[in-house]
Amino acid sequence: MQQHNDALIRAENLRKEYSHHHLFAKKSDSFIAVEDASFHIHRGETWALIGESGSGKSTIGRMLLSLVEPTSGTVVFDGNDVSTLSRPHKRDMRKRMQIVFQDSGSAFNPRRPVGEQIAFGLIQHNICPAPEARSRIIALLERVGLEASHYGRYAHEFSGGQKQRLGIARALATEPDFIVLDEPTAALDVSVQAQILNLLKDLQQERHLTMMLITHNLSLVEFMSDRAGVLDHGVLVESGFVDDMFRQPRSDITKKLLDAVLEPNVIGAA
Ligand code: ADP
Ligand code: MG
Repeated sequence: MQQHNDALIRAENLRKEYSHHHLFAKKSDSFIAVEDASFHIHRGETWALIGESGSGKSTIGRMLLSLVEPTSGTVVFDGNDVSTLSRPHKRDMRKRMQIVFQDSGSAFNPRRPVGEQIAFGLIQHNICPAPEARSRIIALLERVGLEASHYGRYAHEFSGGQKQRLGIARALATEPDFIVLDEPTAALDVSVQAQILNLLKDLQQERHLTMMLITHNLSLVEFMSDRAGVLDHGVLVESGFVDDMFRQPRSDITKKLLDAVLEPNVIGAA
């Protein structure tokens, strides 16, 4: 267990309202996807954000990364309110925060070698010049369980598990401090899920990563996280230590999701 002393990222009263404009009715209505969410994630921990489909999990993840603008509320990253950062500082922050999602393979351009696409991120962020990028990406591919020869391959040549490894490699390329894992194993077989989760755990130790794990699967939470929050229709209804929460769930949604876990120890058994 690591020592968690301070927060790397902090959400303060985050709120997201989506508006739907009806072109012909000349009216618009709005929908509150996230209401007044406050939490913090300590350096080096994996904080889990739990909730059913549509509860607002991805919206929160995207607001943390500045991919979706909050309607109100604040994201504080490494002591700075991200909405007040200057352009160069914002660029620097973007590089330090990355995301891995369920279908990472679909984010690769099917017509370009995957290694080149990952290297492009490095060059774009001025992390290193092109000749060096190639060798760095090859080392990274090998670290996530792929091979040097995969550098020149195309996305469709990879299995689901390998695509997730590629997604992880791309997220790690800019040497981030914080990674949002948005249902990272939801599309994979259980045995492959365990491999990917073990890889993520090892990488976290090695690279001192802070992570947010978004999932509805409480067996993943048990395996990956000490602390978590539970979202129900955009409202953070419960948060605290996973052990306590699972032993004495307070919200109906936590009870429901616990009931859905038939074999709590499957993940990580491989
Ligand atoms: P989750 O990741 O928990 O499944 P999301 O954050 O994706 O939930 O979505 C929460 C709610 O917000 C859903 O009802 C979804 O339909 C709605 N929503 C998400 N993105 C948008 C958008 N860009 N415009 C309008 N509504 C959206
Ligand atoms: Mg989602």
